[in-house]
Amino acid sequence: DPRNNLLEYIKAPQKSPEVIEYDDEFVVIKDRFPKASIHLLILPRDPAIYDQHPLQALSNDAEFLERAKERADKVKKLAASELRRLYGQGSQSDKPWQTAYEKVMTDDSLSDSERDSKLASLPKGRDWESEIKVGVHTHPSMNHLHIHVMSKDMHSPALKHKKHYLSFNSSFFVGLDEFPLEKGSPRFKPGDWPSWDMKCWRCGRNFQNKFASLKRHLDEEEFEAWKRE
Ligand code: 5GP
Ligand code: ZN
Repeated sequence: DPRNNLLEYIKAPQKSPEVIEYDDEFVVIKDRFPKASIHLLILPRDPAIYDQHPLQALSNDAEFLERAKERADKVKKLAASELRRLYGQGSQSDKPWQTAYEKVMTDDSLSDSERDSKLASLPKGRDWESEIKVGVHTHPSMNHLHIHVMSKDMHSPALKHKKHYLSFNSSFFVGLDEFPLEKGSPRFKPGDWPSWDMKCWRCGRNFQNKFASLKRHLDEEEFEAWKRE
């Protein structure tokens, strides 16, 4: 059953080039069919946890929730640094950052350690962490518990149909910061979510069922503008 394919990463993380990092507790992998420019999965390695439904485990096991949040914060930083590497510091800070950087690098009066400390105090540029979302699907397709860490852009060739888009951009996606869910929360039963309208995550425009048109809008307009924000 292909729905068990995530188990291999948990059992033998050292074997796969798709594994980003691992320890006794978690394996972090690249999603093989990424739905955004950065798309990672965090897999807990404890069998008592990975066989549970994510909504149940994250709502009922406070310690796991705590550990998952802690790890997700680290993976988020990793993802943010990758976005910075791909897309730069952002338009707000590009110029001042470049100028400040060049000033430090060309100042011959600085010792190496002085230069390092000046570099560390430069403005940080765009806050890429705020462009990353973390959460789980109400009804996952893969059997082993996994937490998605992904950029918001939804710019990817693997984003191919309405369900792909809606599953990450509707209440079918439950953010890690929404846990624990209360007993009986409506989030456990999203209803007929595949029939919902698709709305652009960035401008809110309603594309209803028009996936091709949403896809063009995401790739040609929103992705370009978002990168440069
Ligand atoms: P779910 O809908 O279950 O929350 O998401 C499962 C995710 O796993 C999907 O985003 C899908 O692209 C990804 N995926 C499915 N099979 C594999 C695989 O064999 N390897 C990796 N790295 N990702 C996979
Ligand atoms: Zn839009």
